[in-house]
Amino acid sequence: MSDKMNVAKIFGENVFNDKVMQERLPKKVYKELRKTIDEGKELNPMVADVVAEAMKNWAVEKGATHFTHIFQPLTGVTAEKHDAFITAPREDGTVLMEFSGKELIKGEPDASSFPSGGLRATFEARGYTAWDCTSPAYVREDAGGAILCIPTAFCSYTGEALDQKTPLLRSMEAINEQSLRLLRLFGNTTSKKVTPSVGPEQEYFLVDKQKYLQREDLIFTGRTLFGAMPPKGQELDDHYFGTIRQRIASYMKDVNEELWKLGISAKTQHNEVAPAQHELAPIYAEANIAVDHNQLVMKTLKKVACQHGLQCLLHEKPFAGVNGSGKHNNWSITTDDGINLLDPGKTPHENIQFLLVLTCILKAVDEHADLLREAAADPGNDHRLGANEAPPAIISVFLGEQLEDVLEQLISTGTATHSKAGGVLHTGVKRLPDFAKDATDRNRTSPFAFTGNKFEFRMVGSRDSIAGPNVVLNTIVADAFAQACDVLEKADDFDLAVHDLIKKYATEHQRIVFNGNGYSDEWVAEAERRGLPNIKSMVEAIPCLKSEKAINLFGKYGVFSKAELESRVEIKYENYAKAINIEAKTMIDMASKQIIPAVVGYTKTLADTILSVKEAGASADVQVELLQEVSELLAETKAALKKLTEVTEKAAEAGDMEAEANYFHATVIPAMDELRTPVDKLEVLVDKKVWPMPAYSELLFEV
Ligand code: ADP
Ligand code: MG
Repeated sequence: MSDKMNVAKIFGENVFNDKVMQERLPKKVYKELRKTIDEGKELNPMVADVVAEAMKNWAVEKGATHFTHIFQPLTGVTAEKHDAFITAPREDGTVLMEFSGKELIKGEPDASSFPSGGLRATFEARGYTAWDCTSPAYVREDAGGAILCIPTAFCSYTGEALDQKTPLLRSMEAINEQSLRLLRLFGNTTSKKVTPSVGPEQEYFLVDKQKYLQREDLIFTGRTLFGAMPPKGQELDDHYFGTIRQRIASYMKDVNEELWKLGISAKTQHNEVAPAQHELAPIYAEANIAVDHNQLVMKTLKKVACQHGLQCLLHEKPFAGVNGSGKHNNWSITTDDGINLLDPGKTPHENIQFLLVLTCILKAVDEHADLLREAAADPGNDHRLGANEAPPAIISVFLGEQLEDVLEQLISTGTATHSKAGGVLHTGVKRLPDFAKDATDRNRTSPFAFTGNKFEFRMVGSRDSIAGPNVVLNTIVADAFAQACDVLEKADDFDLAVHDLIKKYATEHQRIVFNGNGYSDEWVAEAERRGLPNIKSMVEAIPCLKSEKAINLFGKYGVFSKAELESRVEIKYENYAKAINIEAKTMIDMASKQIIPAVVGYTKTLADTILSVKEAGASADVQVELLQEVSELLAETKAALKKLTEVTEKAAEAGDMEAEANYFHATVIPAMDELRTPVDKLEVLVDKKVWPMPAYSELLFEV
């Protein structure tokens, strides 16, 4: 790779983007395709043929040999099957490179083994991938050569969604429609389309690959299942925003280059709070593209890490005792002519449209806090949420001083008459410029924070797809808009009606607003007084998806049918049960094959030492004491291992998937904790040279 990067030149060079389409497609075809992309007009098959041909030629020029329909089944990762462009050999033995419109539009992966949650029995195993022309195709280069990747949705034979993208696109249509309704009421006749924009900030850890390979837990589960805290953790706050080490800097440079080529605008990078933890944020994009890009970001972080002798850990909690990783989902809604509905302007109290949008969002978040919480649930995030380093498991909204004050005025007097200004920040140093402050400070402890012209949903797990949270956000806000429009469209006096509605929503949903410290115990108690749900784990979060409320909501906007929701519930329980089962089995394996043998070996060394010390006529009291201590912990370990083995084996008897997931949560996880405790104590006592795996100190500080 070149030392001097020409970013403007490489940016998007592997993307079949608008510029390439304009260059390579006949004008008429280009215009038709744009209509499908921009206005959702149905695609003409003739257009698809022409686009496919152009796409293939472009990709082949870039060295592509295969194409793939890339999709996002409910496994948490993307899936793909590669098809070569070659046709059957002709009579003279040569082949052609072909790619038809039909192949572009539709694929049929042999997909019976993707999770369907009972939506599809194996005997009716057809599943289709459908081209999503709103997310550009691209050429991916890796060890397997260059491949044309076509983003697709994935549905069953009967049209039920088996993926992340289908409901996301449906929810985007819902919010588009309801936002336009709302805008029209305010006299906007020009905006044609409203799109949610998303900017996900991705956190991750980097560890040395060789050390990673010596840890079964990291390999099989993505997190350490054992490990004593090193003498130094993150208490000095010296890693956050610290100077990026050369090895990491060189890694980040390569990551950026790969992402830029794929048209992903990786923008900021820095060291995060925990040692070995980092963050990457792209510039925000349309929700659908942002979701696809985030998958590519995660893949690229992993791929480039391998090239640098590193391993990228995307798990939410790779190390106990230091901060875990999340993904801040920045979300706003914007019209095609550039109006951000979440922009309060300088004087929000006068911005009636904004106040309606804002109070609708408060209503949405308050009424569907359970769905938002569920959208951020995954097995790894159970270790983070509510653990004083990540947002609490309780959903609340941070508005900041300015908006909270406007809301107070609305509630107490019925009208807001003024907005607090930010004022000027004086540093007290003449040579430093004084600058205008934002009207609002930040609050890092809030799960759902207003940050200037967007909301930041901070609960999402680092490994999770951001599709789920955005499906929920789009749908609940679309529904709040719809309800407001139902009232306002019938009103005789619009101004009066909108005024009353804002006051009503603000009053009814004020309980969801919290500007204080979300990590404090007082907040937990206060939230309970306010009647806000505090959903502590994934298994407790899942059931809300099959509630009457959720079925009605998602059904109304065609985002999920009842059957689709039920299938997702099933899949989530299954994913949870499988994840914990793998963790438990990995612990059992490590404890019985690595840790116990190492400790037994160490007790022998101690016993031998005691003998020879005694033979030499000296006192071996200290060695005896150590041997006793180690032996006691060894016995504790052995007992805990036995118990964990027993309870894990019994999981299959728990009953249906829901019962099994709950069993893992309530019975297996505590048994895992019981095994970890004596092992972590042993790690501190036993000779480092015989400990069978790299310690936290090596993983976190020797990158
Ligand atoms: P911070 O949270 O540290 O202030 P930034 O301002 O850099 O971070 O923004 C974080 C993420 O939010 C970035 O991905 C950025 O592109 C995205 N973002 C900024 N404005 C918007 C917006 N209006 N809608 C959605 N995302 C946005
Ligand atoms: Mg942020």
